[in-house]
Amino acid sequence: MRDYLSRVLSFNSKSSLLLMLLVFVSMLSNCDNAAGQQEKKTTGAVDIKVDTIPTLNATKLELTKQYCLENYGVASYKLDSPKIVLVHFTVIPTLKETVEYFQKDSIESSRTNISKFSQMNVGIHYIVDKDGSIYKLVPDTVIARHAIGFNHIAIGIENIAKDASDLTPVQLESNARLISLLKERNPGLEYMVGHHEYNDTTLPHYKLFLAVDESYKPHDKPDPGPRFMSDLREKLKTEYDLTFLK
Ligand SMILES: [Zn+2]
Repeated sequence: MRDYLSRVLSFNSKSSLLLMLLVFVSMLSNCDNAAGQQEKKTTGAVDIKVDTIPTLNATKLELTKQYCLENYGVASYKLDSPKIVLVHFTVIPTLKETVEYFQKDSIESSRTNISKFSQMNVGIHYIVDKDGSIYKLVPDTVIARHAIGFNHIAIGIENIAKDASDLTPVQLESNARLISLLKERNPGLEYMVGHHEYNDTTLPHYKLFLAVDESYKPHDKPDPGPRFMSDLREKLKTEYDLTFLK
């Protein structure tokens, strides 16, 4: 009897051990699955490399605040809830010259059509270079001057290109990846507009136009051109399942 009991006990403890081992292995495998899903989910965000080139300083923030008071009626440089992604190209042919241009605090007086409204220099949140590299110049939470009447609600992306024919396929790729990341971080981004489209009063984004001084109006711009914007819209729809209003 003792022998029998000891065999039963031994069998039970062996099977308990086996059961515990199975549960443990199953827990481990569930953990692996969870980690894998999480990694997959965040892949879109983490595989974007964005280098920072700071262009802000106290003078610039003060000029931005002043600009916002004079043009949008609010004395704040904060971009609280961006609604539009505005896409441009620089005309300036290199990243180096573009960064030097954006690093100045004040706009040059020769740009009379905009310098008469504010001394604040033009600026941009992101630059995409011709090789697809992405640079961040202004935080998403600070207003930059790149689109008359829409800066209070717009995140701007510049592409290094002399003209529309100079834009590269890798720039298109990087714009799509960057915009998908921006949408993930700012779910309120509803509109994506090319600079050449921004003064079209028939497009839905135009209802967000704001100007204290009505003579400070958007004017015709060539960048980035209809071809680039239609390719970008197509790519965002097919590869990222993202559609924006114009
Ligand atoms: Zn532009």
